[in-house]
Formats: sequence, C-alpha cells, structure tokens
Amino acid sequence: MSLIKVLDSALANKIAAGEVIERPASVVKELVENSIDAGATSIEIKIKEAGKKIISVSDNGKGMDKEDAHLAFKRHATSKIIKERDLFNIHTLGFRGEALPSIAAVANVTIETSTGEAGTKLKLVNSNVVEEETCASRKGTTIKVENLFYNTPARLKYLKSDNVEISHINEIVSKLSLAHPNISFTLYIDDKINFSSTGRGDVLEVISSLYGISVAREMKKFSGETDDFVISGYTSSLGISKSNRNFIITILNGRCVRMIGVVNAVIDAYKTYLSDDRFPITVINIEIDPTLVDVNVHPAKHEVRLSKENELKSLVEKTIREVFKVENIAPRIYSEPSSKSAQIELDVDTFYNSKASFMEEIAINENLIKEDSEEVNDFVDFSSVPNEEKKYIRLNPIGQLHAKYILAYDEKALYIVDQHAAAERINYEKFQKELNDQEKWLYTDLLVPIVVNMSNSQSRRLMDYLSLFKDIGIEMVPFGINSYKVSTIPIWMKEANASEYIDDMIEQVLSNNGRLKIGDLRLKAISTLACKASLKANKVLSMQEMQTLLDNLFTCNNPFTCPHGRPTLIVYDSYELDKMFKRV
Ligand code: ADP
Ligand code: MG
Repeated sequence: MSLIKVLDSALANKIAAGEVIERPASVVKELVENSIDAGATSIEIKIKEAGKKIISVSDNGKGMDKEDAHLAFKRHATSKIIKERDLFNIHTLGFRGEALPSIAAVANVTIETSTGEAGTKLKLVNSNVVEEETCASRKGTTIKVENLFYNTPARLKYLKSDNVEISHINEIVSKLSLAHPNISFTLYIDDKINFSSTGRGDVLEVISSLYGISVAREMKKFSGETDDFVISGYTSSLGISKSNRNFIITILNGRCVRMIGVVNAVIDAYKTYLSDDRFPITVINIEIDPTLVDVNVHPAKHEVRLSKENELKSLVEKTIREVFKVENIAPRIYSEPSSKSAQIELDVDTFYNSKASFMEEIAINENLIKEDSEEVNDFVDFSSVPNEEKKYIRLNPIGQLHAKYILAYDEKALYIVDQHAAAERINYEKFQKELNDQEKWLYTDLLVPIVVNMSNSQSRRLMDYLSLFKDIGIEMVPFGINSYKVSTIPIWMKEANASEYIDDMIEQVLSNNGRLKIGDLRLKAISTLACKASLKANKVLSMQEMQTLLDNLFTCNNPFTCPHGRPTLIVYDSYELDKMFKRV
C-alpha cells in the first residue's frame, strides 16, 4: 500500500495559508491589493475585533462574473499571468493566485461581486462553496472574511494584542494609500472611521491625513531619474525627525515593499544633517521597468529583488541631498569628508582601540582597578570610586572645532570631545540622581492641555502604554483620530517644550518592541530630558565653559559614552600619534 498521498485541496490550501496569511493585516493586504488590481477608485475596509471577527473589503473595481467568482477560490487561479514569460513582467500586485484560496482555508468567506450585470454571491466554509445566489448588480466586489483562524487555533493563539494587530492593519492601509493616492481609502475600526483619504491623487494630502498637518508642512518634494529608474516623493526637513526608521516608506511600482538598501540611502543622505539616532520621514516612489524586478522572492511579496540596486541607491542619496541644497534648510556643520576635516573624522575603530589602550593605561597607572580585570573593552565602572578621586583626570582645553568638538590634552594624550554628547552624559547622571530616588514622580496639571498627533498605527499601539505613562506623571487620553490629549506632566518637564518631550518619549517607547517596565520608562524620560536640556552642537564656547564641561564630564560614572551609547570623546595617545606619523 502506498504511503504517499496527494493532499486534498482544502488541506493544501490550509498549508499554503501559513505562508501568505500570517495575521489579520495579511488578509487586509491581499484583499486590498486585489481591489487595486481590479482598477478600483474607492476601497472601503471594515474591521471588527482586530480582524479576528470580521474583515470586509468593498471596492468599485471591475468585478467578476459567476464563473470567475468560483474560479477565484481555486488554487493558482489568477487572471493576472498566463504564460511563464509574464512572470518576469508583472504589472499587477497579485499574480500567484494564492490569496483567496488561502483565506478561504482559514476563515469563512462571503463574496458579492458583479461586473455590472447580475451579481453573484457565494458563501464558503472550509474552502467549499456552501451557498450560492444572485445579488445586486452594483459593479465591484465585496469580500467579507469572518472568524479568521477559527480552524487553526495555533495561529489564533500566536496573534498579539488587539492594539498591535490593529496597528499592523493601520500600517498596511497607510502604506497602500500612500502608494495609491488616486484611490480613496476608508478604514473603519469597530464602526468608527479610523482613516480616510480622498483619492485626489495628492501624496502630500495623504501624508497629512496620516501624520497630521504639522508634518505635511515640513515635507519637501523631490524627484530624479536615471535611464533605469524614476523616483519621486516627499522627505522631511530637519525640523522634524523620528527616533526610528519606520517612517521611511519605499514604494516600488505601486507595491509597498521593504527596500533596505533604499532606506539606508535615504539615511545616508541625511548623514551630516541629523544625528545617528534620528531619522527622516520619507515617502519614496520608485518606478522601474518591471523586467528589472523579481517580485517572486517572498510569498507575501514583502521583498523584491532588483538588478542595478547600487545605481538606484546613489540616485536616491543624490536626489535627497539636492533637496537640502536647494532649500538650504540646515546650517552645514562641516563640508564633504574629503576636506581637511577628514583627518579628525570619527573613526570608530581607531576610537575603540585607543579607548581600550587609554582605559588600560588608567587601570595600570592609577591602580584604580586590579590588574587582573579581564575585559579592557568593557567600560570601567568607576561607581565605587568616590568623586574626589575621579577628578584626577583633568583635561586642558585647547579650543573648539566646528562649534561642535572640544580639543583638549593632558600629559598622556590628545582628546576630541563631542560637546553635546558630553553635556548629555553629565545631565543624564545628574537627573538620574535627582529623579531616580523619588518613589513617585510629582506631576502638575497643564493649564492648556497639549495635543500630540501621531500616525494611526502609533496611536493604536500607544494605548497599551497609557497606564505606564500615567505612572510617571504623564496622563493622556485619546482625543479624536490619531491624537492624544495630555493633561498632566511631571514637574521637571518644562511646560514650554513639554510637547516635544512627550513626542520624543512616545517614539522611544513605541520603537522599543519589548515590554517596558516603569523603570525603563523612567530612564527613557531621563535620557530625553538630558538630551533636551543639553548644550547643542553649534554653540560657540569660551575656554572657561569648555573647562567646566570637561571637568564635569569626568565626575560622571561613565564619562565615555552618552546615554544613547555614542562616544563622548576620542583619544589619540602618543602611541596612536606615533602610528599615524609612521614612527612605529
Ligand atoms: P492573484 O491576485 O494572485 O491573482 P488571488 O487569489 O488574490 O490571486 O485572486 C484570484 C483572482 O480573483 C484574481 O486574479 C482576480 O482575477 C480575481 N479577483 C480577486 N479579487 C478581486 C476583486 N476585488 N475584483 C475583481 N477580481 C478579483
Ligand atoms: Mg491577489
């Protein structure tokens, strides 16, 4: 008797669903992409119970006749490619013919569709059509997906909290609406409108409804092309930036795909303008001959393969840099790295090596730590050393470079100190001392409540952290769509820049995917405070101010990095210098 059997199609579909349909947001993505492929100009998405109960997508696209409506739920049934050749020349979002059968394998599906003639209504349970009738002849398609994953309990259990699942749905709809500004999208969550776009074709208008008008005002338009690529989009001026890269959105031929190379090129374009831990908001549209792209790398089509990716990356970086030149938005801090300043550019390797030997030297010379201390690379913990003893490091300032770095020396070495990073470290430890001991942070009522705007997916996820924020004195409640109203702030927060503090903290909290505890949030609050309160790069300092900053730095427990982990100083000891002058 043979052991190998061909799987029946319901089971095969259930297995395939594992690849394409990970969570409610995947259903939304597949259905909305089908509507886009069907030429819809208006798409309405309705979600109940984070998509676990109902996901329904209605469009005014071309619809299907009765025969096609049946075929659409057969595996590998697609109207989008016919021959193998087509696979390398794909103009539609779908082409695998897998989505509908996969969805029907893990949920109950009802479809109503019409090409303008008498419509067809089908009800499917466990991949089989169990009901069929005619329905209204409104041109378009409505697909309703109920009780997702009812028959795959493991999948259901794996889903995250409702707010997280909804934020994934928000994110998909946001990206698709940015990619298709000429289609009007409306997203209802539990009967309330969560997001809508007009479909007037203006990306900036979509940006505005997603991120708020204040963001939209700061966006700069760009466009550029080579023989192979045409790019266009909007990118933020330096007035606004984010603490994570999720706001850099890449769209390739209308498809929302993660293009890590392009995202990095955007970040590189901002390199001398934004610090390493800040990122722009960018929507970038890339048009390319479909034969140069392989979309068939990933079942859910999250990723694509591109030939000539390097050409695209340099186009992106160059085009976005142009924006700054034209707009002249930022004071340039230093010129191209090829100029004289190159010699003192931060070289991470050199820094770490020289810091290691510097630390070693301290250890040996000053006998502060025992000789058997294993790891020179680890930061020496000075915390057990009384302050007076720590002051033994006294650097003498020589002058300031680019209004940003302090040059200093002692008998052992030459030091380049990042003034902002140093000030941040000093403030961080100071605030930590003051605030961490307090059992409960005191808070104060705001006379005028602050309203913070954010993207709808952020605003969803923030719900999970409201009580935590309350514990540190920030009380906020949802306020309209994508906004929160803040009524109290901790007393240390200055009312004038409170909205900026809160904005930053929200971002830090949301970009941290793990679960946060109150202690973590306090530390984030303190590092935000330290950053805001600190001396900026670009401030010209007197010798006395430099001296004070250097002295204060060396009273810190960890003088060598800022609270974000970046170095505060680099060291060139005599060995380093000899090496650079080729004396060794
Ligand atoms: P694919 O999109 O990869 O072709 P799907 O399983 O998503 O595969 O859809 C199967 C087919 O059903 C599509 O090729 C299309 O012909 C039809 N279809 C699906 N959704 C719609 C819709 N909203 N309007 C019109 N036709 C649709
Ligand atoms: Mg599809």
